[in-house]
Amino acid sequence: MKSLVKTFLAHQKELGALNSDFYNQVISEGRTKGILKGTHGASSREINRIAKYFNVPHSALIERKPPKLIDTICEHCGEAFIPGNKKAKYCSDRCRNRAFRANN
Ligand SMILES: [Zn+2]
Repeated sequence: MKSLVKTFLAHQKELGALNSDFYNQVISEGRTKGILKGTHGASSREINRIAKYFNVPHSALIERKPPKLIDTICEHCGEAFIPGNKKAKYCSDRCRNRAFRANN
């Protein structure tokens, strides 16, 4: 999970939106500076407050990475394949069926 908070706050700072209201209600000036410098990230609580204060969706502040599809080796034929789900063990229905028959 990558945070977009830093970029978002830097933009708000340019717009002059990081004023005393923000520091009092959302994140203290010291912590905001730290986030902008990259010294630390914003906590999920702070992210909630930022989203509420600026009335933006969480997706504007948190970037969700799509799940990685890793090449998996088929347990039956040994071919590499991209699994459709995390639990997939075989490259195809054919291999799954053949492996099932071989084991029973
Ligand atoms: Zn296979």
